Amino acid sequence: MLTPRIEMNFKKIAHNAKALKDLYGSKGIDVIGVTKVVCGNPYIADVLVKSGINILADSRIENIRKMRNAGVQAQFLLLRTPSLSQAEAVVKYADMSLNTDLTVIKRLSKYAIDCDRFHKIVLMVELGDLREGLIPSDLNSTVKQVLELENIELIGIGTNLACLGGVKPDDEKMECLSSITKDVEDKFGLNLEIVSGGNSANYDWFTSTQDVGRINNLRLGESIYLGRETLNRKPIPGLYTDAFALVSEVIESKIKSSVPYGAVGQDAFGNVPEFQDRGDIRRAILGVGLQDVLVSGLTPRTDVEILGASSDHIIVDTKGIDLNVGDELKFDLNYGALLSAMTSPYVNEVSSDRVSAQEYCETVEQKYRRHVQHLPTKFIKENNSPLISLKTSGFNLMYEPSIKKEYKYMVRESVFDKIGRISKRLDGEDKTLIIRSVWRSFEHQRLLWEKRVESLKKEYPKKEIEEIEELVSYFIAPPSKSTHSTGGAVDALIYDLKNDCVMRFGTNDGLKINLNDKCYPYHPYITPEAKKNRKLLIGLFEEEDFVVDIKEYWHFDYGNIAWAVEKGKDHAIYGIIEA
Ligand SMILES: *Cc1c(COP(=O)(O)O)cnc(C)c1O
Repeated sequence: MLTPRIEMNFKKIAHNAKALKDLYGSKGIDVIGVTKVVCGNPYIADVLVKSGINILADSRIENIRKMRNAGVQAQFLLLRTPSLSQAEAVVKYADMSLNTDLTVIKRLSKYAIDCDRFHKIVLMVELGDLREGLIPSDLNSTVKQVLELENIELIGIGTNLACLGGVKPDDEKMECLSSITKDVEDKFGLNLEIVSGGNSANYDWFTSTQDVGRINNLRLGESIYLGRETLNRKPIPGLYTDAFALVSEVIESKIKSSVPYGAVGQDAFGNVPEFQDRGDIRRAILGVGLQDVLVSGLTPRTDVEILGASSDHIIVDTKGIDLNVGDELKFDLNYGALLSAMTSPYVNEVSSDRVSAQEYCETVEQKYRRHVQHLPTKFIKENNSPLISLKTSGFNLMYEPSIKKEYKYMVRESVFDKIGRISKRLDGEDKTLIIRSVWRSFEHQRLLWEKRVESLKKEYPKKEIEEIEELVSYFIAPPSKSTHSTGGAVDALIYDLKNDCVMRFGTNDGLKINLNDKCYPYHPYITPEAKKNRKLLIGLFEEEDFVVDIKEYWHFDYGNIAWAVEKGKDHAIYGIIEA
């Protein structure tokens, strides 16, 4: 996979979002999800919405537009006072904004009238952190004028602390915000919907306070993503602190001196660097640097030490770990590192689901290659049991039509008995086993192969025949290699009699199966229903001592060399029957 990349674990983010929503909800405080540190990533925005958060806030109108255009179903709040030059876009893309300046609010009103919309505003008051906010003594006159503006709706009051000045949102500050709110409400006869007390830094106040007063809202970013409060960066109990990881790749790894040699001047950023002499060490260079991420905010998940970084490189002391070119190294990120990595155009964002799917597929393919190498080494002690047609069995079975004329659906004797027992078990569940294919002659296998080659040729007219054959060989064995010629292989699906349809296994539409890597039996990226159905199918066959194919959830082997390899048997009992 490409590096550098950020791996995002949506399940962990969702867990954190829900846990915080429940926690703050227990005292009547609603959570706004802040997306600025993830650069308005629409997938993450969706995760927040699905976790029950219905207002999303971002400080960039570009991010809000991105989420809106991606179809994220939420209300959007611009998290800083709009610049005059962006006021029109703010009215267009944001439902509401934080405001501190009457000139701006008037401009919002003008554009809101122009495009016949209402824009909601939350007035921010300064309580000592000295970033944004109206001086409390100016609040009344501002409110008075805001209430006179057309198409502007005052919906709340808020404050922001612990950002620039590091001022703590404690009981005193929150009581102050409550009382300011009550004054305004009394004076103007209002009942404000939102009283927004702050951000992730409000956690300590919230958990220790007896009374949250009028505060009914918090705007949370960091604690959702990184699982920490932000006054001391303590982990919040029950939350994940590792929902994000930065993955980098080793591009050089050599034993070198731990101190530079030659006359030393300034480094790339105008500093004179100092290094500790540790003798010769293994130095690995990672293909990631300050253009990608705030390196000082990274913590390696492996025991290596960052020695320094430039625009495009991080140098680590591998501390004896054998890191080679191409190896990946993972890091935890703090807020600054996450912000920079999510904003950098050089860093790819991937969900960890996709990563685990890719890792799973790679493992399967590796296992498959090993399996294929082992097959010819298996000794066959042919037990000469005969082929019997399932069609004559009287078992409750359904048969997928075959391209081979007068196909008899024949299997070895003990496979026959096994299918009989599976069929009985399914009878009790209102389901029927569908036999897709069992014993196949070389001629039959050749037919299948050629049919698939023909259809792929049509699909990819530009591909060379070698390429087509390679694609086909991915799922169909060449005639002499197929385990279907042993009479020990069974391809099967299940029919649901109650719903009158073939059950869904993730890659099938009725009997038609799309051949792709989601056919690997335990692919993590299929629906829960498909997983459950595969479990049923595979379970039935495994109980009868079959093995499921490494790549195909519908293919089962018993007695042949594929079975012997997977089960670690000394020998197979069914060889090829070319009748
Ligand atoms: C960034 C920001 C937040 C969210 O802060 P976190 O520490 O990430 O929870 C809330 N309010 C405002 C005004 C912000 O700028």
